[in-house]
Amino acid sequence: HTKHTGRNGYHFFQPSMNTFAQQQLQLMNDLWMAVERQELRLHYQPKCQASSGTIMGFEALLRWEHPTKGLLAPDVFLPLAEKTGIIIPMGNWVINEACRQLSEWRSQGQLEWSMAVNLSALQFEQPMLLDTVLACLERHHIPAEMLILEVTETTAMHNPEQSVEVLTRLTELGVKASIDDFGTGYSSLLYLKRLPACELKIDRAFVKELKGEGEDATIVSAIVALARTLNLRVVAEGVETQAQLEFLTQLGCNTLQGYLLGKPESAEAITASHQKAG
Ligand code: C2E
Ligand code: MG
Ligand code: MG
Ligand code: MG
Repeated sequence: HTKHTGRNGYHFFQPSMNTFAQQQLQLMNDLWMAVERQELRLHYQPKCQASSGTIMGFEALLRWEHPTKGLLAPDVFLPLAEKTGIIIPMGNWVINEACRQLSEWRSQGQLEWSMAVNLSALQFEQPMLLDTVLACLERHHIPAEMLILEVTETTAMHNPEQSVEVLTRLTELGVKASIDDFGTGYSSLLYLKRLPACELKIDRAFVKELKGEGEDATIVSAIVALARTLNLRVVAEGVETQAQLEFLTQLGCNTLQGYLLGKPESAEAITASHQKAG
């Protein structure tokens, strides 16, 4: 019988057996340490006015400088961070760091720039969120209206009653709210009307194959019309070509974001390309 259990044990603990579960477990261990070890980075992508190309502000996008795997994008570790709750300390770090960076740019004379920060579903449901946001604004002397909090349509519509409540309290601080990845979730128009958001961000999926006419153009027009009715600005994300830029501007999008206008970059790179004279 020893042979039988022994063999099972051997198979189970075989170190070379690199299952997905084992990889996730390893990643989770590393993830717990990431904040303390200062391995998190923010990259910043510009949000530009469609009509003029002027930079209105930046969106902070999280990266993880993993000790052996290199720079990791959020889709690799965010789901795990969300599942384990690590997203809370991680997200708090993001809010603070984005505010700190904005205050650095403000001290260099960039007083018009806003800062957008993404919130995960779990963060959004945390009662402490309000205090965290307020503390960061005060610590870095950021006017509340310069901070935009992005929540996805799916997160916002998961528990719409609660979302209205949370966003109302946040916007009472003066902070702005943005509904991200719009068009991929299922919005109740009744709640959308009640959400105190300032903008809708059209999901990249509708921009990707946008032509002058066709389904995606119709959808973008419909979202623009809806946003106008609700008094919201429209941001298009994932703009990669000049043709997309022209269509989206024609269709009435106010703000554009995408590789064509600027890829997410380190703060140092952005600072270097925006040195103010004197
Ligand atoms: P998102 O907020 O919708 O951000 C847009 C994503 O599209 C970013 O991916 C950005 O790098 C990418 N992107 C921007 N322009 C283009 C383009 O022209 N073409 C293409 N192909 N992609 C473009 P990223 O940085 O990998 O982030 C993915 C998602 O992870 C974000 O989607 C956001 O939901 C989430 N995320 C990022 N940072 C944070 C964070 O600090 N906290 C939370 N909770 N979520 C975050
Ligand atoms: Mg976003
Ligand atoms: Mg988005
Ligand atoms: Mg997204």
